[in-house]
Amino acid sequence: MAVIRDVMPVFELYQPASVDDALKLLDRHGADAWVLGGGLDSMDWLKDRLRKPKVVVDLTNIAELRGIKEVNGGLEIGAMTTLTEVVTHPMVRERYAILAEAAEAAASPQIRNQGTIGGNVSQDTRCWYYRDGWPCYRAGGNICYADTPVGRNREHAIFGANRCVAVHPSDSVPALIALDAKFVIQTPKGQKLVNAEDYFVGPDIDITRLNIIQPGELLTSIRIPNTWAGSKFYFEKVRDRNVWDFPLLNVASAMKVSGGNIENMRIAVNAVSPRPMRLKAVEDAVRGKPANAETGEMAGKLADQGAVPLQFNAYKIPLMRNRVKRAIGGVQEAQWA
Ligand SMILES: Cc1cc2nc3c(=O)[nH]c(=O)nc-3n(C[C@H](O)[C@H](O)[C@H](O)COP(=O)(O)OP(=O)(O)OC[C@H]3O[C@@H](n4cnc5c(N)ncnc54)[C@H](O)[C@@H]3O)c2cc1C
Ligand code: SF4
Repeated sequence: MAVIRDVMPVFELYQPASVDDALKLLDRHGADAWVLGGGLDSMDWLKDRLRKPKVVVDLTNIAELRGIKEVNGGLEIGAMTTLTEVVTHPMVRERYAILAEAAEAAASPQIRNQGTIGGNVSQDTRCWYYRDGWPCYRAGGNICYADTPVGRNREHAIFGANRCVAVHPSDSVPALIALDAKFVIQTPKGQKLVNAEDYFVGPDIDITRLNIIQPGELLTSIRIPNTWAGSKFYFEKVRDRNVWDFPLLNVASAMKVSGGNIENMRIAVNAVSPRPMRLKAVEDAVRGKPANAETGEMAGKLADQGAVPLQFNAYKIPLMRNRVKRAIGGVQEAQWA
């Protein structure tokens, strides 16, 4: 178990004022460096002394990483833009309401004032065994404490398990996947642009991380194309308490409807697997079908195929089925009834 001292280990603190300087520092210090965004996730790790980086590179003073601007008809959101700024931005609210709703569902107002969009998508899993310092697979050990006959796994995965059954906890991510966002990553070799869903990795690829960021790299912004602006959106988060609680499951979708039929749709769920899931099979199956309860029913049944529940989380299967159903049937009822 972790010895919680609430006192951080000693590290060298750097506060660069430009992305170039931050990248030089990250390149120089490699795996010894920790990137600090808003600090909400980072401080837990540092104060619990479960992460002891030699160097912390704090992005707070980098003005070019903050703010939301219009680019090619879409929006570009700097990685250090706070969740509150995302929630309240007029263009986000007008064109991509689903993102405002999802970001607002995260945590509490105080946390959203400090937590950044870059940190929200890059945060680590909340599996309590791991966060309490138990030496599980993800922490380099050879057991998963959550996936045992007595493991507490009510919040854990029903898809994508591979030794680790922890889930990705972000609320903003499914909305970004539904909006077909691209993540801009600066590497020592130049810039990389990846599709939102490809930013994340499962334990089958790398059990020690939830995303593709490597030492020396930085997520600098998130670009949202205008393709889905003003679509019919649906976001729903299910949680135990209606205040600063991580999702048991969330779903986000963007749908284009013409003459009552679904022209196209993107839909993603999170908190059901170690990697946020885009439901490609559902998207393909509903294309061309009426946007109604019957199509929703069919999509819901398709969505939970292949789910493998643990001892205490089988409830997530009907939860997911019904949220996917509502994302289609529910939107139809609200918009075209
Ligand atoms: C009590 C509590 C409740 C919460 N509830 C929710 C919730 O319901 N839903 C939800 O979605 N979130 C929730 N969160 C998470 C919160 O929303 C923060 O967004 C999240 O903790 C990280 O954001 P941050 O800016 O503080 O990042 P940090 O803590 O600074 O960083 C998080 C991780 O991302 C890395 N990182 C940060 N910025 C970058 C970057 N630009 N490039 C590369 N790597 C980067 C850091 O190295 C670190 O590993 C909760 C947090 C707390 C403490
Ligand atoms: S679910 Fe993953 S993080 Fe949690 S105890 Fe198991 S291996 Fe560790």
